[in-house]
Amino acid sequence: MTGPPGMLSHIREVMGTCLHCGMCLPECPTYDITNDERSSPRGRIRLLRSVMDGTLDPGGDFAGEMNFCLDCRACETACPAGVRYGELVEHARTIITERKLEPVGIRIKKYIVLRLVFGSKKRFGFFTRIARFYRRSGLREAVERSGLLGLFPAAFGRLVMSVPDVADRDFSPDGAVPPAAGGSAGKVGLLTGCIMNAAFPGVHEDTVRLLERCGEGVVIPAGQFCCGSLHGHNGDPVRARRLAAALMKLFPDDLDAVIVNSAGCGSFMKHYGELFRDDPSMVGYAGRFAEKVTDVTEFIARRNPRPADPRGDARVTYHDACHLLHGQGVSAQPRTLLRSVPGARFVELPESTRCCGSAGIYNILRPADSDELLRRKIGNILSTGAEIVATANPGCHLQIERGLRAAGSGITVCHPVTLLSRGVGAGGGR
Ligand code: SF4
Ligand code: SF4
Repeated sequence: MTGPPGMLSHIREVMGTCLHCGMCLPECPTYDITNDERSSPRGRIRLLRSVMDGTLDPGGDFAGEMNFCLDCRACETACPAGVRYGELVEHARTIITERKLEPVGIRIKKYIVLRLVFGSKKRFGFFTRIARFYRRSGLREAVERSGLLGLFPAAFGRLVMSVPDVADRDFSPDGAVPPAAGGSAGKVGLLTGCIMNAAFPGVHEDTVRLLERCGEGVVIPAGQFCCGSLHGHNGDPVRARRLAAALMKLFPDDLDAVIVNSAGCGSFMKHYGELFRDDPSMVGYAGRFAEKVTDVTEFIARRNPRPADPRGDARVTYHDACHLLHGQGVSAQPRTLLRSVPGARFVELPESTRCCGSAGIYNILRPADSDELLRRKIGNILSTGAEIVATANPGCHLQIERGLRAAGSGITVCHPVTLLSRGVGAGGGR
């Protein structure tokens, strides 16, 4: 069976905590789509147990169901027994990836995204430059309008359409930002990461501005790249560990916190200790690093910074990124912060806790299922009458933006820190 012995016994232990009560089923978006037990958390746990016991072939149904799962972890929030389901599905994906059990189309997409684009900082930079040219030159609109993509296999067309709307520039850190005059609250590090750096440099600037307003000195280590979450969530823990180790090395030991403004990254980095469970030379260090990881909304809510200058007013709603809500248990803080923005009239989003279908690279791997979830999300957003929807994860941001554009809506999507930093007249925050 795939994985070191420590990992295998840990997975069996986690599976053993399931009481088979079924309380997770109503919260599971994929069970909602199929009404089939195999597409539910409880069903998937049974499938994994059968594969590990050697009574079920891991190809076919097993591989399909594990990739159909969004890894949204809504089941974890619903579970009375505290089953850490995310660890189970990620282990299952490691089995199917290592044994090459997925359809060839999925393997090709994973190879392109995880190995080519997010495989190294240099290659990521190269693809970012292409994406910028694609966006700036007007090629994107021309390709979308022309219908040319219809001449290619659907999977290729979808891949081209998934090129993220990157910003015109990277975030350019100075290395360190000293605390504002009179401020001496402490010293924190900022994760700049990969996609946040390329697509949302403005969100990093807003984050730094808010941290400064809280009196924090901000260390922004140069040379940062991906935290490994995309790889860890999609069956490649080896590459995830390599990326995590390289990233941790860049941060000095004397920080009070490592601030993250991307929910998927933060959720993964808070479990760096578990990622290195079978490596005695790293487990303690990674665990100490993980304890410092804090989502920006968690951190700022504790500090209560001076609000942004009032600039107009707008109805604002909030979409819970799965890996902030279910992965980190952060729900009240972003709402409290958004309610504090001058001019913001906060309105709850129906089904705000339901996945938007982005789910890391799910929207690339399973576009039809992803679109079904997105349509529902967009319908809910439109029903609020909001002018702004805030969300704290780049995947959700890009997915919802794409859905709103397709629906012909002018609603702005932005990170909560952008509203806090610049007020409701901020625009999208790139
Ligand atoms: S995962 Fe939790 S909620 Fe779901 S069946 Fe098992 S114990 Fe019940
Ligand atoms: S992670 Fe999400 S999609 Fe997967 S089983 Fe849990 S609730 Fe369902």
